[in-house]
Amino acid sequence: MRIVENVVIIGSGCAGLTAAIYCARADLSPLLIEGSQPGGQLTTTSEIENFPGFVEGISGFELTDRMRKQAERFGTRFLSDSVAFVDFSSDVKKITCESFAVESRAVIIATGAAPRMMNIPGEREFFGGRGVSVCATCDAPFFRKKVVAVIGGGDSACEEALFLSTFCERVFTIHRRDKFRASKIMADRVLSNPKITVMWNSVLHEIFGSDRVQGVRIKNVGDSLISEIGCDGVFLAIGHIPNTAPFKSILAMDGEGYIISTGESLVETSVSGVFVAGDCSDRRFRQAVTAAGMGCMAAISVERFLANGGLI
Ligand code: NAP
Repeated sequence: MRIVENVVIIGSGCAGLTAAIYCARADLSPLLIEGSQPGGQLTTTSEIENFPGFVEGISGFELTDRMRKQAERFGTRFLSDSVAFVDFSSDVKKITCESFAVESRAVIIATGAAPRMMNIPGEREFFGGRGVSVCATCDAPFFRKKVVAVIGGGDSACEEALFLSTFCERVFTIHRRDKFRASKIMADRVLSNPKITVMWNSVLHEIFGSDRVQGVRIKNVGDSLISEIGCDGVFLAIGHIPNTAPFKSILAMDGEGYIISTGESLVETSVSGVFVAGDCSDRRFRQAVTAAGMGCMAAISVERFLANGGLI
């Protein structure tokens, strides 16, 4: 017997789980495909202090676990698999995973993005609560009056360095070239900030420490000399990679693979009936609360789309 779902949600981070809660409460009986990292990026964050409602903070794992239980309570069904390819060419969308295939009238893509990593010694070892972070907005308050290093020369790196400078005693920005990629205004703010020292032409070679980060070794790209900087934290800000490979050539994307919203709302894609939420389309904010907000918007859009017989 052919079963066509109302809505399939792809991705189990904050955006996907929030979409599931809303779709389930709207009696759409959503099916959520969890992917290879159930819970998404939040599960690698130690403590979240900026999600509204959690006065004392909450661990990333617990927050997503609670969201999952909430989605399950209202009737979300979960499948543990990863999407291999999709066919969105007709009204009924086909989603093929590694071990099964489903059809659905609407789809919400919430596959997130992965921070670009450098694959250097110490990076994985000290990641998530031991000194290495990919989000200053999330983790800067843990480095009050400490010394940190920010890696990268784009707008994110400049923004992170400036934000960190309001908490930290000193910030080193380590950039592989002799000028910033960031917009002039951001670059100028960094350069005129007395708490920030820029290490030009330098690449991160190693992060060292014992229980926690104690410093970094950087290599000068000109003479290959290695020098050491003592610091308590390292913030990687060298870009993100959106998890959108199965949708390439099917949905409109920018040059880096972020899904572009094309309709009036932030969550409509170039294909009718396919919606998007969270970091796979948001390169700018990348917060749990903004991803959750987009998940809510996508779910309400699906509800209206289905109620209107396929019109938004
Ligand atoms: P980005 O613009 O791609 O910059 C990435 C930075 O990391 C570049 O400086 C790059 O160096 C460096 N990098 C990349 N791979 C590296 C590696 N393996 N080792 C060392 N350095 C490496 O990324 P982003 O800063 O995350 O910004 C993404 C987009 O969001 C941009 O369009 C940006 O304008 C926008 N954004 C805007 C704002 C704002 O307006 N306030 C804030 C954040 C982001 P090179 O320069 O040598 O390539």
